[in-house]
Amino acid sequence: MDAYDVVIVGSGPAGLGAAFEITERKPACSVLIIDKQRYSSGGMRNDCKMNFTFPIGFPLEYWTQEVAEKHLDKVAAFLKPEILPKHNLQVYQERADRLGVSLLEVSQTHLGTDGGVKLIKQLLGELQRRDVDLSLHEQVRTVDAAHRLVQTNLRDISYGALLIAPGRQGFRFLQKIMDAHGIPYLDNIVDIGVRVETRIDHYPIVRDYYDPKFSFPDKVRTFCTNSGNAHVVQEKCSTSYGETYYSVNGHAYAAVKGKENGMVNFAMLKTVGLTEPLASGQKFAEQLSLQAMLLGGGKPLMQRVGDYRLGRRSKHTDFNHDLYDFPPTLPTCCPGDISLAVPARILRAIWKSMKHLDTIVPGVLHPSTIIYYPEIKLYANKPTYLDNHFRVLDSMFFAGDGAGTSRGITAAWASGIRASSGILEVLD
Ligand SMILES: Cc1cc2nc3c(=O)[nH]c(=O)nc-3n(C[C@H](O)[C@H](O)[C@H](O)COP(=O)(O)OP(=O)(O)OC[C@H]3O[C@@H](n4cnc5c(N)ncnc54)[C@H](O)[C@@H]3O)c2cc1C
Repeated sequence: MDAYDVVIVGSGPAGLGAAFEITERKPACSVLIIDKQRYSSGGMRNDCKMNFTFPIGFPLEYWTQEVAEKHLDKVAAFLKPEILPKHNLQVYQERADRLGVSLLEVSQTHLGTDGGVKLIKQLLGELQRRDVDLSLHEQVRTVDAAHRLVQTNLRDISYGALLIAPGRQGFRFLQKIMDAHGIPYLDNIVDIGVRVETRIDHYPIVRDYYDPKFSFPDKVRTFCTNSGNAHVVQEKCSTSYGETYYSVNGHAYAAVKGKENGMVNFAMLKTVGLTEPLASGQKFAEQLSLQAMLLGGGKPLMQRVGDYRLGRRSKHTDFNHDLYDFPPTLPTCCPGDISLAVPARILRAIWKSMKHLDTIVPGVLHPSTIIYYPEIKLYANKPTYLDNHFRVLDSMFFAGDGAGTSRGITAAWASGIRASSGILEVLD
């Protein structure tokens, strides 16, 4: 049987952060990374903009500023980001302050989807130099913690310590592992929102600040802004009983003069915390997504702001009216009426925030602006951790977005580094 000191499930930033930290501190350690995809490195393949300022990406229940910054310094020292310049922030900050909105100043870099792939190639080369084994297209099915065994679709592997970092897509896999091992967890928080798409001319702040982080009252925030050569995409998801639905998202390619489409997209997310008797954020989100699929004929919905304001649905026939001065970058969505699909309380908070945003950056609510729905983030598994290194059992650790320890590339990487200290203790 194959045996490793450390087995890491997931080659996303959380898994990579752990693999590099472990091999840095204990080069003789044998490490295996397993990923079910044919290509490695998880969410780093999407847009790859990285934020290097607390609290962006760091869930406050697990991170203090001091701990996060200590780990972020390590991430930055390893990845050596070229931080993007920002301009004219004071103007936007003053407008935001007057409305009770905050604009966080965040150190960012943006590689783009293509730049992310280049970075991944370099990282894989470095893993090889460190003798880390990477097994792609292999799926971990179960874990037998009593015998320190990982069972995949191909083989059994024994481990000294195990890190499970399966990302948001592995949300349910992680719940299965927790249920099987009696690890308590909460899943009562979910981010529900829309993706907004418009021309950069209608949201010119992105020329001054690539991914502006606005935080509005009612727990609404801007998230994941992409511009230049930017596209809205859809991710295939499935419910716990196998029904398919789609959640929208966005990404951009690296800025290359002449190849830009002049578009910008970003999410407006509202955090919803559920209490008894309905405590599963995942189930709530699934129901909302299925409702959107029902109305959209199996596709996400899209609506022009002009139509939304008039209280009428968008239609294919008038989606290219002269006022609607750009086509959607995700044209397969169904033109419709998002207010039929989004719960009133959530939509009210998001629309109010969008009006605030339009006062801070006038133009973003141009009639042609498109609102896509649903964009839902299911990263709020909150396991009960036994220590500061995200240990859940004697020699089992979790990290990354699926385990609730991060919400973005740099924080996921940082959470992998943090788990490594516990893993190294187990091996010693
Ligand atoms: C379209 C899109 C754009 C994004 N843009 C950005 C951005 O610009 N900036 C940013 O900071 N964040 C962005 N994110 C979020 C970012 O990708 C995540 O925060 C980050 O990748 C989380 O890292 P992770 O290591 O926890 O999980 P992931 O990166 O998701 O990696 C988990 C890996 O585990 C593997 N896996 C899961 N289950 C199993 C199993 N059972 N067996 C084997 N392997 C398994 C998966 O295949 C995956 O490769 C974006 C996400 C999407 C979807």
